[in-house]
Amino acid sequence: VKEKLTKAEERAFAKELVQKIGELAATTGRKLRFMEVCGTHTVAIFRAGLRQILPDSVELVSGPGCPVCVTPDDYMDKAIAYAQRDDVIIATFGDMLKVPGSKSSLNEAKTNGADIRIVYSPMDSIQIAKDNPDKKVIFLAVGFETTAPTAAATVLAAEQQGITNLYMLSAQKLVPPVMEALLNDEEVHVDGFILPGHVSVVTGTSVYEPVIGKYHVPGVVTGFEPLQILRGLYRLVQQVVNGEAKVENEYTDVVKTEGNPVSMAITNRVYEPCDTGWRGMGIVPLSGLKMKAEYARFDIEQVLPLEVETVVKKTACRCGEVLRGIVTPKECPLFAKACVPTHAIGPCMVSVEGVCAAWYKYGQGR
Ligand code: SF4
Repeated sequence: VKEKLTKAEERAFAKELVQKIGELAATTGRKLRFMEVCGTHTVAIFRAGLRQILPDSVELVSGPGCPVCVTPDDYMDKAIAYAQRDDVIIATFGDMLKVPGSKSSLNEAKTNGADIRIVYSPMDSIQIAKDNPDKKVIFLAVGFETTAPTAAATVLAAEQQGITNLYMLSAQKLVPPVMEALLNDEEVHVDGFILPGHVSVVTGTSVYEPVIGKYHVPGVVTGFEPLQILRGLYRLVQQVVNGEAKVENEYTDVVKTEGNPVSMAITNRVYEPCDTGWRGMGIVPLSGLKMKAEYARFDIEQVLPLEVETVVKKTACRCGEVLRGIVTPKECPLFAKACVPTHAIGPCMVSVEGVCAAWYKYGQGR
């Protein structure tokens, strides 16, 4: 592909790729199902209208790629319980406020007087801690491999600056173990993965090789432009047709095999893998990050453990199945009725990267 295509050339190339994808996929005699595991890809696919232009022989489904969406009720219940303490300030990204726990949300806690501050980087919580030495400042560390280095760097900066009132409530998640969980799930059927772009910048492509090899399911890392995604899809179909299962890279400008060793080293200095819970999937072995023993003083769950009861809710929200690609948002009876972005019932409608929010915004199923 030339470096700079005109819009007309892009459209022509996209059309050609879609045709090739269709012709190649048709040779399998069945519908091929590919899953993206990255919220930014979900939005990019909808924004470009790729689902509509793809041939019937190829189906795209969204997986657990939105960090806010995969964070389970019990984490939110814990965050709310900490927020309700007079000696605590919660620092968090804004979209966490509307995510429901089993009984309420951080938004409700804020309305009832909890001190909850919106930050744009974990590093912002350092200044809040300095300004409020008599309070415990807790950053809600939610995210994938992409954000873990910044959370870890914040811990290291706090240590270096002698800050003793900053803590993390960790819900960091890892992509390869959840791919394995999906492939072990009898209800989930995928022929290949569109592997995440941003996560792969940090991790590199090699982290996917064990799971891709073990389950013999193809994977291609792509960027977020429509042509990059289409080229990734073409390579996925090629692999299926050729009976191959390997990790390919369609985002070579920024994604390397070994990733970003500096970022990984920062993460690995502070964190180690642990079992963790995912919305709709339960506990997935070694799919999360917890702070190592030498940084336990920054882990609020170790410094100030709270007993928090999570009530199992009876609700029609199908986020758990949406996140596994088993149902689409329009199969949820609440979609675009009781559940809309301005009144979200489940986290998949709360986050801009949520599957239900993308379906709603781009008019699918309405
Ligand atoms: Fe949950 Fe709303 Fe999505 Fe239904 S539409 S699954 S209630 S977030």
